[in-house]
Amino acid sequence: MSVLEIRDLHVTVETENGTTPILNGVTLTMRTGETHAIMGPNGSGKSTLAYTIAGHPKYTVTSGSITLDGEDVLEMSVDERARAGLFLAMQYPVEIPGVTVTNFLRTAKTAIDGEAPAIRSWTKDVKGAMENLRMDAKFASRNVNEGFSGGEKKRHEILQLELLKPKIAVLDETDSGLDVDALKIVSEGVNRAKEQTDLGVLLITHYTRILRYIRPDYVHVVVKGRIVEEGGPELADRLEEEGYDRFLEAGTPID
Ligand code: ADP
Ligand code: MG
Ligand code: MG
Repeated sequence: MSVLEIRDLHVTVETENGTTPILNGVTLTMRTGETHAIMGPNGSGKSTLAYTIAGHPKYTVTSGSITLDGEDVLEMSVDERARAGLFLAMQYPVEIPGVTVTNFLRTAKTAIDGEAPAIRSWTKDVKGAMENLRMDAKFASRNVNEGFSGGEKKRHEILQLELLKPKIAVLDETDSGLDVDALKIVSEGVNRAKEQTDLGVLLITHYTRILRYIRPDYVHVVVKGRIVEEGGPELADRLEEEGYDRFLEAGTPID
């Protein structure tokens, strides 16, 4: 079992107006095998949390810590984070001209495992994972993200998840822009990865829709850069009915 621990995390971002605080003390512990949903209104800092875990250079941690099994994640390069078992879809470039999906996946797998996968079993694994996600075989020879539709990007994300076998996956708005059929296929992929490898999932979403297919063990509500409420899956049901209004009224604690 692995543990990701986020302790009293404060994060700022540089804008033309100076340094803006975005996260104001986020504390969260998650273990492999668990699914945690991070929910909250737009602009509350959900993506900032994901980018910070990913090591995006735009976001500065001013205090607090992130550790994976006691190792300091904030000291790790983006590559080291991936090798340590963190999967963050947005750590990869948006478009990689001239690099096919097949070669990209093999390079990523080699970097993470420290050795190239055996070609026969790898080809079989890629084929199987693509079939599971109902992806056309031709997809493998396309260039990464070049002209991908929203749905193809999401499937490519889950394809990586299934093949790279991380310990903990951070999925930011994986549900956005998917129709119900694609949402089901993508969710099945996440659920398969959870069954096969005891994956921990940090599922970031504004909407409750995906949580019907990927049931969270814990729900954390982020408002204005802080976790303002936590609970089990019933909290997601409540948010579906009530929205975020009650958190946005005066009196919500902010620094
Ligand atoms: P969410 O994902 O919950 O919608 P974000 O983390 O994207 O929220 O954004 C939180 C706040 O931080 C917003 O007010 C947003 O404008 C600001 N912010 C986030 N990233 C940047 C950035 N790179 N540059 C400027 N402002 C940013
Ligand atoms: Mg947003
Ligand atoms: Mg966001």
